[in-house]
Amino acid sequence: MTDLSTQLIHHAYVPPAGFAAPQPGVFKASTVIFATVAAMRSTEWKDKSGYTYGLHGTPTSFMLEERLCTLEGGLQCLLVPSGLAAIANVALALLRSGDEVLLPDNAYGPNKTLAEGELKAWGISHRFYDPMDASDLSAKISPQTRLVWLEAAGSVTLEFPDLLELARICRSRGVTSALDNTWGAGLAFQPFDLEPGAGTGLSVDVSVHALTKYPSGGGDVLMGSIITRDAKLHMRLKLCHMRLGLGVAANDVEAVLRSLPSLELRYQAHDRAARTLAQWCTQREEFAQVLHPALPPSPGHAHWQALCGAASGGAAGLLSVIFHERYSQIQVDAFCDALKYFKLGYSWGGPMSLVVPYELASMRMAWPSHLARGTLVRFSVGLEAVADLQADLTQALGAMT
Ligand SMILES: *Cc1c(COP(=O)(O)O)cnc(C)c1O
Repeated sequence: MTDLSTQLIHHAYVPPAGFAAPQPGVFKASTVIFATVAAMRSTEWKDKSGYTYGLHGTPTSFMLEERLCTLEGGLQCLLVPSGLAAIANVALALLRSGDEVLLPDNAYGPNKTLAEGELKAWGISHRFYDPMDASDLSAKISPQTRLVWLEAAGSVTLEFPDLLELARICRSRGVTSALDNTWGAGLAFQPFDLEPGAGTGLSVDVSVHALTKYPSGGGDVLMGSIITRDAKLHMRLKLCHMRLGLGVAANDVEAVLRSLPSLELRYQAHDRAARTLAQWCTQREEFAQVLHPALPPSPGHAHWQALCGAASGGAAGLLSVIFHERYSQIQVDAFCDALKYFKLGYSWGGPMSLVVPYELASMRMAWPSHLARGTLVRFSVGLEAVADLQADLTQALGAMT
């Protein structure tokens, strides 16, 4: 198979006659004109055979949907206004009062907040499972469980679960699995073919992706996608998407289309720099623990290696450190404040490095035994020169004591 970057750049696309530019046009519309009433009545939006209204898709949005399917190995795609909207769309489409959803204890925070807020108010219950203990997921699946969220690596703490085993459990128990694939980005592993070449067909059912992160790559677009390989499941998600009126702006879609050809290149650069810094952090006595799936002592490293290590070995651009307990919150805050290139800000995937201190105690059921006690700081490594970032960490650690 041709390399992914090549496929994304040379993607099947027919420009308007007489205008052979390689870049796609930006089609903006709410209204779409029909030639006749008969055409208006017969044009179908559900199967993408025609255009009916801006909310139901344009040539621009269909193009991004197709390319994201190529990226993640799916067959159907929905675009939504943010990564969180993708998570919410999946929950609202697949869950009803009396149902239960299971989330990993290290899930993306707002996914938990959605469960604790809106879902609970609608009579949908939730429980958290230990992502590093497949038997805990197995034990928590009940007759009410309709959806299991998966995340690899987990948010903030970056533990890498045994995704194959978790997906196998969901499959064997007949529960829909939805992966938040923002970290993997379609590059670190293949969510719809978790054992490439093995022919087992082991796969997640749904992959959601915060395009806000690596696919946009600019820190200037909010968007999410929901990808499936099952037409029936896609239709349930799509009908909910339509009823909720979730649309994306063509200019934003174009920004993601413009960034996609460099996705793999950027991901590899973020990845290289993050590994260099993670390795360097292990030499610093200030840190009790360095969390990065490619580091052998990091929780779940063997699972990462089994799933991602054999191929290109993708590991994204995130790393977290846990300061020794002797450092107070005030000292760690001072470290973050002293950083010059790592800016204080949420999100990741853009060119600028970012840093966020987290209060882990408030985020987990209990302090996980595989994590050292202390204040956690997460770095999102941007595209700056790694030597400059390392010098920045050094001077900020010096400013802390
Ligand atoms: C950022 C993020 C999201 C949400 O994306 P937004 O576009 O910011 O709503 C979801 N999941 C993960 C893992 C993320 O990092």
